Amino acid sequence: MTKVEKAKKIIKILNEKFGKPHCALNYNTDFELLVAVILSAQCTDVRVNMVTEKMFKVVNTPESVMDMPQKELENHIKSTGFFRNKAKNIKMCSKELVEKYGGKVPSQMENLIALPGVGRKTANVVRGEIWGLSDGVTVDTHVKRLSNLIGFVKEENVEKIERELMKIVPKERWIDFSHYLILQGRDVCIARRPKCCICEINHLCNYGRKTMRKIAEKKLNISL
Ligand code: SF4
Repeated sequence: MTKVEKAKKIIKILNEKFGKPHCALNYNTDFELLVAVILSAQCTDVRVNMVTEKMFKVVNTPESVMDMPQKELENHIKSTGFFRNKAKNIKMCSKELVEKYGGKVPSQMENLIALPGVGRKTANVVRGEIWGLSDGVTVDTHVKRLSNLIGFVKEENVEKIERELMKIVPKERWIDFSHYLILQGRDVCIARRPKCCICEINHLCNYGRKTMRKIAEKKLNISL
């Protein structure tokens, strides 16, 4: 089976399991989503949602972030980790949004990644979620891990992984594909303890197939 065929089968199976995927971060506006994605670096979506639920009641526009003292913003986002850096980036990013884009989040990739604190991954999530646009496959820690375990890549560099996945996955499924691997990563393919026995795609996964073979051999030895 080619990698392209494998990707299509995995998408089909995970689509049946999860339905149409959507971003797990809560937001009401484009700006809120952008801030939530910046906060989600090295932090869980659940934690970010807890933080933004309170924070967005007080500050939820680029203008209001600009006016808020850095220390106050840091206090709001403290529990998401790397809070000083994140607060600094969110403030600088807000300033640029106000000064260059009239307070709106731009949709073009080059404009987004030029904003402080916004990398390619953040831009991909925002563009995909708000406008259904995709210039690539979002590669987070789950996508990176599963892509290697399944056998799509043998690579640690996220940019190289993204380029490979863009060749394997049909363009119209790039956004869904990332969501599905993230959901599957959280559900069964947990880092360092993947539950291959109950994984719906174990027959399509290199690591899963090896694990299942070992389990079968062990059972056979016991019964002999
Ligand atoms: S079969 Fe195992 S390693 Fe492969 S995706 Fe599923 S849980 Fe992860």
